[in-house]
Amino acid sequence: STATARKLFPEVEAFIQSESLGSFIGGGEVFAESGKTIQTLDPGSGDPIAAVTELSAEEVDSAIDVAAKAFRESGWGTMPVNERAALLHRLADEVEKQKHLIGQLESLDAGKIEAQACGDVQNFVDTLRYFTDMAQHLQRRTTLAVKGHEAWTVRQPWGPCGFIFPWNFPFLLIGWGITPALAAGNTVVIKPAEDTPLSALYLARLAQSVGIPDGVINVVTGGGGTTGAALSSNPKIKRMSFTGSPEVGRLVAESCGRNLVPVKLELGGKGAAVVFDDVDVSSTAEKLTGAITFHTGQVCCDATRWLIHESIYDDFVNECVDRLRQVKVGYQLDASSQMGPVVNAKQRERVLGYLEKGQAEGAECVLPGGPAQVEGYTGYYVKPALLAGSLDNIAARDEIFGPVAYLAPFKTEQQAIEMANHTDYGLANSVWTQDLGRAARVAEAMVAGNSWINAHNVFAQGVPYGGVNKSGMGGGVLSLETLLDYYRNTSVVRPL
Ligand code: NAD
Repeated sequence: STATARKLFPEVEAFIQSESLGSFIGGGEVFAESGKTIQTLDPGSGDPIAAVTELSAEEVDSAIDVAAKAFRESGWGTMPVNERAALLHRLADEVEKQKHLIGQLESLDAGKIEAQACGDVQNFVDTLRYFTDMAQHLQRRTTLAVKGHEAWTVRQPWGPCGFIFPWNFPFLLIGWGITPALAAGNTVVIKPAEDTPLSALYLARLAQSVGIPDGVINVVTGGGGTTGAALSSNPKIKRMSFTGSPEVGRLVAESCGRNLVPVKLELGGKGAAVVFDDVDVSSTAEKLTGAITFHTGQVCCDATRWLIHESIYDDFVNECVDRLRQVKVGYQLDASSQMGPVVNAKQRERVLGYLEKGQAEGAECVLPGGPAQVEGYTGYYVKPALLAGSLDNIAARDEIFGPVAYLAPFKTEQQAIEMANHTDYGLANSVWTQDLGRAARVAEAMVAGNSWINAHNVFAQGVPYGGVNKSGMGGGVLSLETLLDYYRNTSVVRPL
């Protein structure tokens, strides 16, 4: 069976062995009184991994009370910043020490290629260290100049903050989300996606083992419409952060609006790659086909619309087809696999459905894609696909979230910019050319939070990330801007 074919670390085996996993609240495991659970599956085999408790709305409310109490009573928000930093650095060290183990757990749960999952864990560690150090350097009190008065502004943490995450980068996104909040002294309540709760639960246990006070990091598990909705509509949450689809993002923003809770949204994307005629066709095709197959195309900031100068269009398309035909689709924990499964059966149907719908609306099929067979595994595998044609096609407008790119030729720089901006989204784009003047013009003219030149999907702590329009609001992720969001300001003035 596939289960015996997996060679898991004993710690990973032990973690998923338990009959059912609870949420983690106030330093301990908590199970739903209803006894309800949600199975998390191995996307590469379709086999169940573990049953995870499904909390009710009331149980989520209690978890938020625990986080609020920990904020008031644990001393987390008021301890000297270097003491908090020492605890967070211990967490970073421990996560790094267990990188391969957490990476394997994440790979198993999310269907990510194991080495990539380990990279995500390292990214979490780097982000945690970055914000921990930045918070130590930040001035807590800023003196203000008011004639005849003493005046200053003081920054303080808010209290309990809520986080809802998707399934594509579970552990990495937890890092991008919660580490600035923790570094600033807030407590957090995390709601992982139903498909990928394991790494969040593992993290909460690690946090406790390094001495982070109980109730500072809490994880509530369950369905989006129950657990997620309870978290985002609770007025005791001081700041909310949501990463996921625009449809759910709108619901979360509505709830937060009713409670006047500030909310940050990181939503989907439909990024463009604009490829001019002076590129090296082979290496550009290598990078873009690499981007679309990375995590099986389940990447919000991917380039999924490839706009190619008409004079190299045919060469470029042929090169991409050749490369995509050679991609080795396989089980995510098999070191020879280049592209793993999509996350679940529904996602596979979504990808295959868009290929059909796109062609029904007149898109040309350049590379058909379709279900992929992987010997010995009955998971949710698909082949890479390429469509081409009008950018008004449904497959060019909607985020598909699979290894599918949509191609269109262009003639002029101005036309390329207009085509790139012909979308409701605005997350990340790229431009490919040797002409650096043109590269800068196009990179700035494309409406999105991020533009890359001769690259796609390059991230670094200190480079603000985040979308505009249908891709989200309140960006500045991975930068000082986000850290500042996790402090509230009080300005104090007194006559001398
Ligand atoms: P989703 O919106 O379906 O779910 C995201 C989370 O919201 C899950 O935890 C889910 O349980 C929860 N949820 C569902 N219904 C809810 C409700 N009514 N109230 C509160 N919470 C609810 O998204 P997904 O399918 O998990 O993830 C894919 C989407 O995420 C894609 O659109 C992708 O582009 C986006 N994404 C964006 C970024 C970014 O940084 N911009 C990063 C990763 C993924």
